[in-house]
Amino acid sequence: MREKMLVSGGNGFLGSHIIDMALGNGIDVTVVDDFSTSKERQVPKEVEVIQKPVENARELLDRRFDFILHLAARPSPEDYLRNPLRTIDSNDIGTRLMLEIARLSNATFLYTSTSEVYGDPAVVPIPESYFGNVNPNGVRSCYDESKRFSEALAKAFERTYGVDVRIERPFNVFGPRIREDGFYGRVIPRFIDQALSGQPLTVHGDGLQTRSYLFYTDWVNATWKFLYEPSAKGAVLNIGSSEEITVIDLAKRIIRMTGSASEIIHTKPREEDPKRRAADSAKARELLRWKPEVSLDEGLERTMDWLREKREHGKL
Ligand code: UDP
Repeated sequence: MREKMLVSGGNGFLGSHIIDMALGNGIDVTVVDDFSTSKERQVPKEVEVIQKPVENARELLDRRFDFILHLAARPSPEDYLRNPLRTIDSNDIGTRLMLEIARLSNATFLYTSTSEVYGDPAVVPIPESYFGNVNPNGVRSCYDESKRFSEALAKAFERTYGVDVRIERPFNVFGPRIREDGFYGRVIPRFIDQALSGQPLTVHGDGLQTRSYLFYTDWVNATWKFLYEPSAKGAVLNIGSSEEITVIDLAKRIIRMTGSASEIIHTKPREEDPKRRAADSAKARELLRWKPEVSLDEGLERTMDWLREKREHGKL
């Protein structure tokens, strides 16, 4: 019998890539996704799609799966600040529903939490043992606190019902299929899009804030190993790079690599923007025998190629 996988948020950037991996491994995939932050369908035709918000998909309680991957979320700060309640609901009601289905199915439950659970960290690179520095009622709390609550829910299901729970915290993953536009554009695709179209690159504040970036293929490999590794049951793992770069240096690098004539402008700093973020991924390296393989430059090149091609085909 073919294994069955439910992926919430499967039409998104990360979801669509993990689904390609699952299909390549002969797994039947069902997606629940409301397309609220999608421009187009990104999953192949053979995938069953239930188009509704994850928190409303109660009919799935009657279905059984071997794996449940809960990715449905609104990770872009400019978007979630405008949709705080919908952001919270995919993490409170949505996570609870996905966990119920995992319990009834006796499934492996993998939750894509976030490096945002650390807030504005005092320790960088951040190990999983750091509990975070989060404002519980600040503008970002709809995302970071509800993600933290999801982790608590998942652990409560593990402790109460013995559900096989695995929690990962991805750090700024990027690559083809990530959105570049509007409130959804995260920094890398937005800067590349601005550079390719000759618009100024919009650096928020002084640009000295840092992030570490992970190319999506490295994320897919880590997540796949995490799903199947017997000794990783119950683990909480950072999935990210430790290579920190400032936003201003990232902007300069993208201008250089695209050969763009765009200038850099400094815009209003984002409220509660974490000043530094980079992953200590020693635990994932050991448990999954994994490490990032794709350099930032190579990842940027591949993302640029993808965005250039989209522009040439009039898809932007
Ligand atoms: N950023 C920026 N200009 C932009 C978009 C983002 O300077 O047009 C900065 C943002 O302030 C943050 C970093 O880039 O410090 C990463 O932002 P992103 O939205 O990609 O994700 P975050 O890591 O904040 O969730």
